[in-house]
Amino acid sequence: MSVLEKMSSAEAIALEDKYGAHNYHPLPVVLSRGEGVYVWDVEGKKYFDFLSAYSAVNQGHCHPKIVGAMVAQAQTLTLTSRAFYNDKLGVYEQFVTNYFGFDKVLPMNTGAEAVETALKLCRKWAYEKKGINENEAQIIVCDGNFHGRTTTIISFSNDENARKNFGPYTAGFISIPYDDIEALEKAVNSSKNIAGFLVEPIQGEAGVYVPSEGFLAKAKAICEANNVLFIADEVQTGIARTGKLLAVHHENVQPDILILGKALSGGAYPVSAVLANDSIMNVIKPGQHGSTFGGNPIAAAVAIAALEVVADEKLAENSEQLGKIFREELGAFIQTSNIATLVRGKGLLNAVVINDTEESDTAWNICVRLAENGLLAKPTHGNIIRFAPPLVMTEEQLRTCVAIIINTLKEFEK
Ligand SMILES: *Cc1c(COP(=O)(O)O)cnc(C)c1O
Repeated sequence: MSVLEKMSSAEAIALEDKYGAHNYHPLPVVLSRGEGVYVWDVEGKKYFDFLSAYSAVNQGHCHPKIVGAMVAQAQTLTLTSRAFYNDKLGVYEQFVTNYFGFDKVLPMNTGAEAVETALKLCRKWAYEKKGINENEAQIIVCDGNFHGRTTTIISFSNDENARKNFGPYTAGFISIPYDDIEALEKAVNSSKNIAGFLVEPIQGEAGVYVPSEGFLAKAKAICEANNVLFIADEVQTGIARTGKLLAVHHENVQPDILILGKALSGGAYPVSAVLANDSIMNVIKPGQHGSTFGGNPIAAAVAIAALEVVADEKLAENSEQLGKIFREELGAFIQTSNIATLVRGKGLLNAVVINDTEESDTAWNICVRLAENGLLAKPTHGNIIRFAPPLVMTEEQLRTCVAIIINTLKEFEK
């Protein structure tokens, strides 16, 4: 008998609790199947997925085209390492650079690895092209950032949970308030050692904070004027999530370095990427950076299929349209509500702010109730609930979901 025989939710939760590190606090739902905008738990209950694995599953669960590409490649060649060429990587590199408009791509696996890659690339460029003295480069980041979990990345987080007792920390970062163009200008001018500005076009994990209109374009102009690299972390906001292919496209910004992950594979496989033009990317020479799995043939085949789905199914347009409806409907409800105070977001990356303290468990309890009512979402920071369904949702499905959310919120009116 297989150890993976069918089990109850309670049994599955007990196993994770006993044998897995406690580095997450999941909602008590055990999923065993997904298709499109739906997931099913082990008892067969069906849910709308309003997290999409933190926007990795933009193309919907188990998209047949993506899974098809993955299975076909898995049966042909899975991994060669970069010690040899493979017949899929170059094709993917040409495809992805054309798709996003850059000269070159550096393939990695996870989002955090891609952020690390971008930071290393920025520093090397600073020493070899900008002429900053070795070990003196500074990269500007934003308060409230989330860029992943490596030692260097958490070094410039200001989330105590992510940081505390993981020191000593990596030096070389200056943190400024998010969406503060004067602070950026001041920081850029504070020293001749500024190499880059790393920014999320919308701060997802922090609670879906959308910067004021014009912030990204102005920030890019300041960077350009000062020979500072504008580095966009679009791991969560990219690949049609916010109603455009990239969130920076809302302000017609082309970053100097673009970081992608999550939906680059439609959630089928860990695939991340750093894109830049030759004047930047060419500072990396053989042996100076890499990854055993980065650029493997499965990743290449899966990413091409995932990006084709985004274009073929017009997911950016759908995200833009459904996002408007979502914010309109929730906005109207909030007028009459004392449990929800605000809805904000772009495209289908949205959040509702719950009228309670950061430390309260109200948002958590609402999410538990939402699950009982057939919709899965998760609080981000304290009293904020993020709503980010797969972008393959129909308008009819979205309206059904809005009704579930509003009816659930009504149960919590004070
Ligand atoms: C999720 C995320 C990351 C990290 O990606 P992992 O694949 O979890 O390492 C980095 N940046 C942003 C903006 C993210 O949302």
